[in-house]
Amino acid sequence: MVKKVVACEHSIYAFDKNNKPVERVQPGESITIETYDCFTNQITSEQYDLAATLDWDKINPATGPIFVEDAQPGDILKVTIDELNIGQEGIMVTGNGIGVLGDQIDAFDIKVCPVEDDQLIFNDSVKIPLNKMIGVIGVAPEGDPVNCGIPGAHGGNLDTKLITEGATLYFPVFQEGALFATGDFHAAMGDGEIGGSGMETPGDVTVTFDVIKGKEIKHPLLQNEHGLSMIATAETLDEAAKTAVKEMITLLQPHTDLSLAHMTMLMGAVGQTEVSQIVNPQCTARFTVPQQILDAYHIDLFK
Ligand code: CA
Ligand code: ZN
Repeated sequence: MVKKVVACEHSIYAFDKNNKPVERVQPGESITIETYDCFTNQITSEQYDLAATLDWDKINPATGPIFVEDAQPGDILKVTIDELNIGQEGIMVTGNGIGVLGDQIDAFDIKVCPVEDDQLIFNDSVKIPLNKMIGVIGVAPEGDPVNCGIPGAHGGNLDTKLITEGATLYFPVFQEGALFATGDFHAAMGDGEIGGSGMETPGDVTVTFDVIKGKEIKHPLLQNEHGLSMIATAETLDEAAKTAVKEMITLLQPHTDLSLAHMTMLMGAVGQTEVSQIVNPQCTARFTVPQQILDAYHIDLFK
C-alpha cells in the first residue's frame, strides 16, 4: 500500500466536528502530514512588517482533519509519532501583549535562526541544539469549535515539548472518525514557551493511528521511553498542574495495591509536575510518572 501524504494546503484554523475530512485512514495505517509554520508561512524575513501585513486569521493552521475509520465517541485515538522533519530555519516572534514580557516590549520583533548541523544559529556566539516538537495536535472537540491556538482536553495548542519523534499520544475521541489534525512545529522550545512562540517551522510528520475501545481518558496522555505524562489544560497553571496530578493518580491507582495515601506518597516521591506552556489563552501542565514505576506494577494501560 502506498503511504498517504496530506499536503499543508489542507489546513484548518479551528478543531471542529463540522470540518470535512481531507483523508481517511484505517487503524494501524501510517500517514505523512505536511504543515505550514504557525504563521501559515507568511513571515519571510526579519524585515517583514508584521504589524501592517500579517493576517491574524491565518495563525496556527493545522493540517487535516483526518478521519480514522472505526473511531467512535468514547474511544481513545492512539497516535504514534514515527518521524518528525522540520524546515531549514526557525522563526521567533514576540511583541506587545505576547508572552510573559508582553507588557514590557513595545513593538513586534522577528528573529530568523538558520538550522546548521542540528543547531539553530541564534547569533555568532550562541547556537541552540535542535529540540524538534509539535505544538498543535489533536482531535475535534465535543461541542463548539475550538480555535487551533487554544489547548484543551481535545489536544490543540498543547505546546508540550515531549510531543516529538518516538512519543505516543492518546486522545479522547469526541466525534466519529476522531478528525485528527496537527501543525505548529517547533525547531526548539523551552518549557513555558515564555516569549509566546517557539522556533516556528514548517515540516512534516509521519504518524500511525490506532483506535482503543472499552477504555476512557479525559485528557491527552503521552508515553515515551521515560514514562507516562498526563497533559492537562486549564484557566490557570495551578489548576492545570493539579488536574494533571489528580487525573494521573486516579488513572494509575486501580492498577496498584496501594491506598490513596500511599499512592500519593509514591507519586510525591517520583512524579514530576512540569510546565508545558504559560502563554496560550489557557495554560498547560503535565505530570510525569517514570517508566520504572509502571514496570514495577506491570501497568500497560491500553493493552
Ligand atoms: Ca503553539
Ligand atoms: Zn508555535
